[in-house]
Amino acid sequence: MTTPVALEPDAVLSAARGFLGDRITTNAAIREQHSRGEDSSPPTLPDAVAFVETTEEVSRLLALCHRHEVPVVPFGAGTSLEGHVNPVRRGISLDLSRMTRILEVNAEDMDCLIEPGVTRQQLNEHLRDQGMFFPVDPGSHCTLGGMVATRASGTNAVRYGTIRENVLGLEVVLADGRVIETGGRTRKAANGYDLTRLFVGSEGTLGVVTKVRLRLHGIPEAMSSAVVQFETLEGAVRSTIEVMQMGIPVARIELLDDDMMAAAIAYSKLEGYQPRTTLFLEFHGSEAGVQEQAKAVEAITSGHGGAGFRWATDAEERNRLWKARHDSYWAGIAAKPGHKALTTDVCVPISRLAEAILGAKSEAKELGHFTCIVGHVGDGNFHQMVLYDPTEPGALERAWDMDKRIVSRGLDLGGTCSGEHGIGLGKREFLEREHGPEALAVMRSLKQALDPKGIMNPGKMFRN
Ligand SMILES: Cc1cc2nc3c(=O)[nH]c(=O)nc-3n(C[C@H](O)[C@H](O)[C@H](O)COP(=O)(O)OP(=O)(O)OC[C@H]3O[C@@H](n4cnc5c(N)ncnc54)[C@H](O)[C@@H]3O)c2cc1C
Repeated sequence: MTTPVALEPDAVLSAARGFLGDRITTNAAIREQHSRGEDSSPPTLPDAVAFVETTEEVSRLLALCHRHEVPVVPFGAGTSLEGHVNPVRRGISLDLSRMTRILEVNAEDMDCLIEPGVTRQQLNEHLRDQGMFFPVDPGSHCTLGGMVATRASGTNAVRYGTIRENVLGLEVVLADGRVIETGGRTRKAANGYDLTRLFVGSEGTLGVVTKVRLRLHGIPEAMSSAVVQFETLEGAVRSTIEVMQMGIPVARIELLDDDMMAAAIAYSKLEGYQPRTTLFLEFHGSEAGVQEQAKAVEAITSGHGGAGFRWATDAEERNRLWKARHDSYWAGIAAKPGHKALTTDVCVPISRLAEAILGAKSEAKELGHFTCIVGHVGDGNFHQMVLYDPTEPGALERAWDMDKRIVSRGLDLGGTCSGEHGIGLGKREFLEREHGPEALAVMRSLKQALDPKGIMNPGKMFRN
């Protein structure tokens, strides 16, 4: 760790006040709000928080910080789960949540241009009357800039892809204040290095995203949800593998294990369901197509012990079910009052999903951990929440140990340490194991080329 930067009455703070006024602040409560995300790493106070409103302000502030070698940590909504926004080297937390303009919606080409502080909920509200939607849906109230930076996904990724597949281009302010545009409006392009993909998932370590051009999708003619409950976790996982291998184009296929389902029933007041492993599904398409998909899935699930396949075509019931699914993170934490959770994010090739989930669950039980699982299982991705009592000595360390075991099993099965949450602080040790030293050296050279002074979100992604 380098020495923390003392900003007040540093040249950066007074110069930045010249163009940001009181939108750059050292207020203790605001610094506290920017000291961490939704994770278990210890908080660090930034020296100041800057609320920017334009690309020009971001550019001027970065040029200033670059000159004075002051760390900058971009901040969207602070919902990330791996210590991403924790300003471990202090400096400035750069809050983009006020950049919320929707600049263009091109209905004919089905794309839009937005500022990074827009949330997917705001975007979908804006698009609703135009017959289009944006499908990438993390279960949090996060910003699209944060989603780009973490390479986020959600329940719809199995059909519509992750944010990576839905970003057409970006405007990025580089560490020294230069502004570049990447990508474009066409659906395909073979025109040089793909800088858009470089910044997607870069976690604020290479530059600040100030505009995002997104692909949009048409609202399907018909949508229906289904819920099916299983005697065993294995039955639900095997059903998922078969649905995917058969190529049934489900829009969503999400798993809640028995412990998570019990938590969801209690938290979301879901009546008429048993605390058993459950698959939540959604089908999109024509009326006939949706029925055909549902029938095929029902046949597969009943062959693996799935019972009580329930349809919900009514929008209110569908929304209630999916809200319960999206609230499962909070339901899991509420399952043990006073506890906190570490959340894993392993993703494996679909053929190895059963080994990954069943092995991780039984190992956790053997070691005396209470865990609950929610998974975007159609993508081979699952989150095993490890609950721990923060007042019990050594409980957090034991939870971290369990987290490592789950990730190691995933890597041994050809998977990745993170399907969607990213590396941040929490998964840095796995990056080299997953990619190898040579690939990591290439990543470090890219970082060095774009941020030679190391001011952009230092301490994240790599162990320096
Ligand atoms: C209840 C809950 C459910 C969740 N479910 C999911 C899920 O289903 N799928 C999923 O993928 N994630 C999920 N997450 C994690 C989190 O919501 C995502 O990682 C999200 O993309 C973070 O967005 P944010 O706006 O909160 O970003 P922040 O947490 O503010 O920042 C995240 C990272 O992005 C960087 N950053 C932010 N904005 C910019 C910008 N404009 N330019 C450059 N860098 C930037 C930050 O420096 C940081 O490194 C969940 C979190 C919670 C709490």
